[in-house]
Amino acid sequence: MIDAHIHLDQYPNVETEIKKWEEAGIKGVVAVSTDLRSSYRTLELKLKFPHFVYAAIGFHPEQALPNETDWNEWLSLVKAERHRLSAIGEVGLPYYTLQQSSLSLANYVEFLEKVTEVARAYDLPLVLHAVHEHAELALAILRKYNIRSAHFHWLKAPLSVIEEIIQFGYYISVTPEVCYRQRDQVLLSYIPLHQLLLETDGPWPFIGPFTNIKTSPLLLFESVKYVANAYQKNIDIVQKEVLANTLKVYQ
Ligand SMILES: [Zn+2]
Repeated sequence: MIDAHIHLDQYPNVETEIKKWEEAGIKGVVAVSTDLRSSYRTLELKLKFPHFVYAAIGFHPEQALPNETDWNEWLSLVKAERHRLSAIGEVGLPYYTLQQSSLSLANYVEFLEKVTEVARAYDLPLVLHAVHEHAELALAILRKYNIRSAHFHWLKAPLSVIEEIIQFGYYISVTPEVCYRQRDQVLLSYIPLHQLLLETDGPWPFIGPFTNIKTSPLLLFESVKYVANAYQKNIDIVQKEVLANTLKVYQ
């Protein structure tokens, strides 16, 4: 299995961790980035572990927008490292921080359009953080720019939007929350297996059965058990299908 969304740059002792994960049977991770510095770090990890790391670089939306200098440097980075990149991300629209600050959604919509144009120019998939009522806005931008491949990570959205995302052929991932949280279990019931990805968003900590367990791609083994049961399919078959989906987007 491949963890379809992890903040690998936020893990200390990453060399030791990767060795442990590989020994346990994890085939790789999609390492996403949150800003310019994080993008450099992700590319560094890609160079170090080329077979294991699928690199995505971008600016996380739940923070201030990048300044002009960072944006231009990032653009040059995309251009120079194009052949080492698997995607643009993590990008999208703020939701949680927007509730507590005076950020303007319009500025983020404009920025997401800029980033989407870059993804299209280099024919790279987009890793999206766009939840609740903002999922629909992000979806409209993907359609506007005719984006072929995109992944809505840790999605929470109204059913009508979930259905549209699926109809357009984009991918949706669930986190280990699917093992214990009804909202995610309901989401899963709408995702066809051929459009499902599994992720941890590590090092984000989970609760329920994962309280006090450090988040790592090893949690995917628990998620896949739940998912296989929900689809009434054999675990090996589900693992293979989800791996194939992940490679379809990121390879
Ligand atoms: Zn993330």
